[in-house]
Amino acid sequence: AAPVAFLGGISRAARAGIIVRSTQALEQLARARSVAFDKTGTLTSGTPLVGAIVLAPMAAPLTEDEVLGLTASAEQYSTHVLAAAIIAEAARRGLALHPASGAQEFATDGVRAEVAGTTVAVGKRRFVERLVGPVPDPPLSPGETAVYVGVGERFAGCILLRDALRGTAPSTIRSLVALGVREVLMLTGDVEATARPIAREAGVDTIHTDCLPGDKVEIVRNLPERPVIMVGDGVNDAPVLAAADVGIAMGARGSTAASESAEVVITVDDLAKVGEAVLIGKRTLRIAL
Ligand code: ADP
Ligand code: MG
Repeated sequence: AAPVAFLGGISRAARAGIIVRSTQALEQLARARSVAFDKTGTLTSGTPLVGAIVLAPMAAPLTEDEVLGLTASAEQYSTHVLAAAIIAEAARRGLALHPASGAQEFATDGVRAEVAGTTVAVGKRRFVERLVGPVPDPPLSPGETAVYVGVGERFAGCILLRDALRGTAPSTIRSLVALGVREVLMLTGDVEATARPIAREAGVDTIHTDCLPGDKVEIVRNLPERPVIMVGDGVNDAPVLAAADVGIAMGARGSTAASESAEVVITVDDLAKVGEAVLIGKRTLRIAL
């Protein structure tokens, strides 16, 4: 390969807001046969909005604002996009947050903290059920995410959030297929009921739900169509970005850990740059080989 052409490709990519850290990464982009996307913050906007707050029947019921205030107080210690959305909704309603102590964040599960003299657990169903026992299904609309809230030993309710698909997701996926990508996947820590409608809207056929960070790594390592590009944004995506043949971090609003683990960082908040990166790779390779 002619190094000069590769350097040209890398600098053309940089001008487009795509940092490519090595010539090998540029070559893998050009040859990629599979592209796996994280859902939250990658295929979706990453700025979810709180829709409804569903209160659980309790002996001494809490109000919506009380549940939201306790949840937001615990979420102050989380870097998850859902935490930011919940805190923003509490601020919008003018709620004062409580100081929280002993906060612990559990990767892809949620947060637990002592707030106003009780333990507040916020996150996935099974995580909250560990504290409060079995909880009922919330009335989810397609694509909505439920964040479960336990207060003390009681289930207090769910906060339902909606995270819109990025407008450019369907066209980005179509252009990747047009560029020769044979398999497009979604890997998510979220549940099937939330993820399936979003995948359908994006035009992704294969989805893997309820993924822990290690599950995403296993799936990417075992994909038959290679090289594999993984596109992600979150702290939890760092291992899978490193495990893919090329990791692409959505760096504009994503986590530092994701950007540091990826060979390619997109510095503008635009998913279409994933297709552009592959195109620049292909153009460069045609020149270089
Ligand atoms: P993805 O893999 O699609 O980016 P994540 O694994 O980051 O998704 O999150 C999936 C689910 O984990 C969320 O829908 C939520 O139920 C739960 N979760 C993780 N952390 C938190 C948190 N800090 N607050 C609320 N929910 C959380
Ligand atoms: Mg994510």
